[in-house]
Amino acid sequence: MSFALVALPIPLRHTFIYRVPAALEATCVPGAPVTVPFRGRPRRGIVVERVTKSAVADTRELTAVNGPPLLDAHLLALTRWMADYYLAPWGEVIAAAMPGGQQGLAASRARKGAVEDPIVTLGLATRITLTREQASATRAIEQAVRARRFAPLLLQGVTGSGKTEVYLRAAAAAREAGGQTLVLVPEVALGSQIVREFRRRFDRRVGVLHSYLATGERRRNWELARRGALDVVVGARSAVFAPLPRLVLVIVDEEHEPSYKQSEQLRYHGRDTAVRRAQMLGIPVVLGSATPSLESLANAARGKYRKLLLPDRVDGRKLPVVRVVDMRREGAGTLLSTPLRAALAARLERGEQALLFLNRRGHSHHSQCRACGHVPTCPHCDIALTLHLTPSVWRCHYCDHEETARPTCPRCGASFMRLSGAGTQRVERELAQAFAGTKVLRLDTDVARDHAAPAEVIRRFAKGEAPILLGTQMIAKGLDFPRVTLVGVLDADVALHLPDFRAAERTFQLVTQVAGRSGRGKTAGEVIVQTCTPEHPAIAASMTHDLATFARAELAERKEAGYPPYTRLAALLLTGADEDEVERAAEAMGGHLRAASGDDVIVLGPAPAALAKLRGRFRWHLLLKGADGSRVREVAAAGLDWAESKSRPGGVKVAVDVDPTDVL
Ligand code: ADP
Ligand code: ZN
Repeated sequence: MSFALVALPIPLRHTFIYRVPAALEATCVPGAPVTVPFRGRPRRGIVVERVTKSAVADTRELTAVNGPPLLDAHLLALTRWMADYYLAPWGEVIAAAMPGGQQGLAASRARKGAVEDPIVTLGLATRITLTREQASATRAIEQAVRARRFAPLLLQGVTGSGKTEVYLRAAAAAREAGGQTLVLVPEVALGSQIVREFRRRFDRRVGVLHSYLATGERRRNWELARRGALDVVVGARSAVFAPLPRLVLVIVDEEHEPSYKQSEQLRYHGRDTAVRRAQMLGIPVVLGSATPSLESLANAARGKYRKLLLPDRVDGRKLPVVRVVDMRREGAGTLLSTPLRAALAARLERGEQALLFLNRRGHSHHSQCRACGHVPTCPHCDIALTLHLTPSVWRCHYCDHEETARPTCPRCGASFMRLSGAGTQRVERELAQAFAGTKVLRLDTDVARDHAAPAEVIRRFAKGEAPILLGTQMIAKGLDFPRVTLVGVLDADVALHLPDFRAAERTFQLVTQVAGRSGRGKTAGEVIVQTCTPEHPAIAASMTHDLATFARAELAERKEAGYPPYTRLAALLLTGADEDEVERAAEAMGGHLRAASGDDVIVLGPAPAALAKLRGRFRWHLLLKGADGSRVREVAAAGLDWAESKSRPGGVKVAVDVDPTDVL
């Protein structure tokens, strides 16, 4: 008799065994999509292993094999590693790795022959002569590709040092060696400049994968990649699962970006998974950034990663001069300081462009009645509603709940609301007053509700349709506008005071990245950073582009406080509609974790999460901390085992986050 282990996309962290009928013997291979009976109804899953024995008496029979394997042995192994590492059900990891998510498990490969290999014109000449540093970085990557050995390379290059050109040359070398390259970018919509460059050089041998694509289009690119008809795949986080039979090089651009971490459903880190994938295949992986994560810097310092440096901008261009404006000395309530107004006026006069950055959308994050003190908050979440204009609504930034905003207090009817926490829409107003008649483009998630909008805004700004582009972090990274000679950071303190141990790192990265958008053409750039804490190390260091000094100081603090990269963390989040029930479950979870923790893992909590209620569910959390990551995961797994057992309160959901990035 023969059996198959099947992974199902359900929240249980083990596989299920089924008997394989003789008729399905040949097709029931690892990776194949199958239908099996489960709790009285048919379910779709993936065969992960064939075995000859079953420990279960009267094992049930597998119903159907739905097509050829959807995953090869390597991707099965990668998803298996993720399931183990992130303490997730293997079936759910596999579902996440399918181009159509869970439904992807259903479909066998579509309509043979329907997808044709792209016809391409290759070898478009480039007139760029590499700088000495670019050339030596490219050589190092090419050698690693040829050597076919795992080699993690940290490409640390200041903004405008030409990292993209290095990626392009490395991918070309990989192609010449007959191999495929996977390029991960933080966001595809805005990564479109990098996509354009790859398209220019590789024509239609480049496939783009991102969630905005219709499922059919994604499946098509997936199929082309799997068939080997693409030389390069560019995509966001989930492209790390792209099937690439000839993969010889992985590139992770802006490796420090928080968006590589998925913090819902399957909680995994795209960069870390990419490094693991390269390690499993024995190929090089390039992590590129002007502001590498402290984890990667620590790995480089330990000799685990090899550093490739691009210390200067190309063409002898200078890094911009950064000026800090102390907002405590500016008029109360103003968003545009006197120096920033003057600098903007000068740009308008000279026909140059400016970027203004504020990491808060909407008009005001906080409305409070001056008479009774009432703050309009979301009925479903424990958070103040943000005032938005056109239309005038109070909106929850977590669940999108909306109420019509009135100028009067909803509780006492008084007519004065104090507004604080200015967002992009309020800046838009202030600009309209200060520079009447000047066109301002805005880019934030409100604009991006229409998926095509960001690319359109960027195209119009690049064409010079407006002298000012105002936006949130969506404009902070990757953009290359040669006519921008001024960048204004309107409030550098927004991210600095979050109760998160990464707050300083994030602030340094954000300010440095956004400053890096200035002076990328022939004219030298200027940056104005508005802050109320000019002395803070993260802000002081970004003034002088001094990554080394900042990293040294910040790493020392992390070591002192026992935070990553010197320890490993795992968070457990418990949510439910009944607050008491959630609290009781969290207390019980604490007991189980402490029983398993020994003296090498510290259990912190339980405590209500900083966002204590979200979409009507109360949230409590616990944090595990230890020097040894596998011990931390072991303790977290003990907590999950209890959560998956029958003894836990029914209405409470438990989620685990290994290597969490937002610890609030
Ligand atoms: P980074 O990603 O490091 O910030 P980019 O890759 O965006 O920098 O490069 C900045 C600009 O410099 C781009 O317009 C690119 O085409 C150009 N560039 C890259 N390498 C060179 C070079 N060696 N000589 C001249 N221009 C270059
Ligand atoms: Zn809400």
